[in-house]
Amino acid sequence: MSDPLPAVFSPAAIGTLSLPHRVIMGAMHLGLEARDDGGAALAAFYLDRVRGGAGLMVTGGAAVSQAGAGGPRYGVLTDPAFTRRLGHVAARVHGAGGLIALQLFHAGRYAPAGAGGPVAPSPVFSKLSGALPSELTGAQIDRTLLDFAHGATLARGLGFDAVEIMGSEGYLIDQFLSPLTNRRDDDWGGDAVRRARLGIEVMLRVRAAVGDGFPVIFRMSGTDLMDGGVTRQETMSFARALVAAGADALSIGIGWHESPIPAVQGGVPPGSWSPVAAAIKAAITTTACTVPVITSTRVNRLETAQRILASGQADFVSMARPFLADPDLMRSARRRRPVNICVACNQACIDRSLTHSGPSVSCMVNPRAGREAELPPPTRTVRPAAVAVVGGGPAGLVAARELAAAGHRVTLLEAAGQLGGQFCLATQVPGKDDYISSIHYLTAELAALGAEIRLGHAVPGGSDLLRGFAGVIVATGTKPRRLDIPGTALPHVLSYPAAFTAQLGERVVIIGGGGVAVDVAHYASQTGPPGRAVTVLHRGGRIGARLGRSTRWAVLGALRARGTVLRTQVRCERITPHEVWFARGDGTPDRVPADTVVIAVGQVADASAAAAARRSHVWHRVVGGARDAAGMDAVQATAEGLHAAREFIRRG
Ligand code: SF4
Repeated sequence: MSDPLPAVFSPAAIGTLSLPHRVIMGAMHLGLEARDDGGAALAAFYLDRVRGGAGLMVTGGAAVSQAGAGGPRYGVLTDPAFTRRLGHVAARVHGAGGLIALQLFHAGRYAPAGAGGPVAPSPVFSKLSGALPSELTGAQIDRTLLDFAHGATLARGLGFDAVEIMGSEGYLIDQFLSPLTNRRDDDWGGDAVRRARLGIEVMLRVRAAVGDGFPVIFRMSGTDLMDGGVTRQETMSFARALVAAGADALSIGIGWHESPIPAVQGGVPPGSWSPVAAAIKAAITTTACTVPVITSTRVNRLETAQRILASGQADFVSMARPFLADPDLMRSARRRRPVNICVACNQACIDRSLTHSGPSVSCMVNPRAGREAELPPPTRTVRPAAVAVVGGGPAGLVAARELAAAGHRVTLLEAAGQLGGQFCLATQVPGKDDYISSIHYLTAELAALGAEIRLGHAVPGGSDLLRGFAGVIVATGTKPRRLDIPGTALPHVLSYPAAFTAQLGERVVIIGGGGVAVDVAHYASQTGPPGRAVTVLHRGGRIGARLGRSTRWAVLGALRARGTVLRTQVRCERITPHEVWFARGDGTPDRVPADTVVIAVGQVADASAAAAARRSHVWHRVVGGARDAAGMDAVQATAEGLHAAREFIRRG
């Protein structure tokens, strides 16, 4: 059989390092780096990816100094306990036949206040950290260069296969490069040459520290997506200078954390950024010695990587979040098995990595991610039991797969005619079409594991359908909350699930302001007749208040750009055949014309099957929205599905 993805699975090298294929697992800050567990959680995370066929993996950023740490959950290379953990990780990865590079990191003005930071080329306030950094003195810059060199020496001594210098995404080196954040007029700023000096000097110092034969990757911004930022010409000059300074490869990052242009969100078409890498590849090809170029950002399928590589736009593709979604990504693709696709929700990964407390990074479609040490793959039971999972949304599917993988006889009961639950609605929303891929993946897994799937099987509260099972997990999710105002029974008034299948009019009013209302607004504004007027009426002050930090601004910006009217602090009072009447914040009555009204005011638990589970008098758990509709999101729901299944498995 021919190779499924020939360009992806062709071996290549970065400097002296031979790699089995052209996909690099990009750096992800996991929130496990500072955990005092001897490196067990980190090692388990990377080992799972080695076993799943990952080639070179780049660690999350290891801060070269305390001031460079991006928060309290970052590891700092001056901390002996952290370096011991790193040594353990490198040894375990090598023991399993893997390859790992250490990312040398300095957050600069993106570091939170405290512990010597934040520092930056100039005191320019950062929206991300909410802090005003202090300006680095010349002596402090010299110290920072030593810190990078020291980190590289450490990495080599600890057994890492390479280092990657983090010089993109708006961190310290980028801050020096950009006129927006570098307002100095000394040896380190004032013109493009002096702004580029820190990055080049770091590259030179790291090269000198590790010697010629040790691979050094430099991650630079291909475009910072900042108004008034680094120009294209400056970027190309910087790339050429880095190669001359000894970089073995250039990894091309896209955008800053503060960029007003989305780079990583679901609405960005996959593969959008590979032309940026291609331009840099062309620019350095004209130099005397060229090096491989690694493209990254918004590549979530290996088919996209194949297209990029085959076209010659880049030599390698860095993929990060897809390895959270599916640690077996490479092995499954090689074997032509389904893979779990990252849907770019950012909820359990990027959004969590930007916080300094709360749960560490995981994945909505793979809640085991980041929990590998505490949740090793289930061993097969010697006493298979019949277990019912009620509800075929993501939480139910995750639970069912886990139980089936442990060898239990799983029956999945779904009331609808298809699996997927809320993901079936989400997949209608432009930019969220990958959501259904995750359902397809889990369905294929269940089929391979021999689980029985019964569609069109509702479980009413009074039924005895669950008797005879040894265990029951109820994951029936939610149903729409009703709105109690006059006019909701009119024929042009829809609940939000119906909005995705009905013919919407030219003037759509959405009542509600949560994530579902935002989804409906996207759907309504991007489908149907041109010029459709879409209005969102929200009782609260913040539309999409629970959307993640990395996503909310982008989705609201996209809505506004399409002319969607977002009104907050309004109280809807009645719906008539042609209008929605509401009271403004000051009580003044107002109205908006509507030929379609969509009610999206939240959800209530769909828990009737929970009553049937109680009647069955067997072990049972209610998870996800069926347990708590108000405080639930898909990340928590899938995690609850996983944990309930594990609880049953542990019972033996
Ligand atoms: Fe992708 Fe969402 Fe998982 Fe992050 S949480 S890896 S964006 S699916």
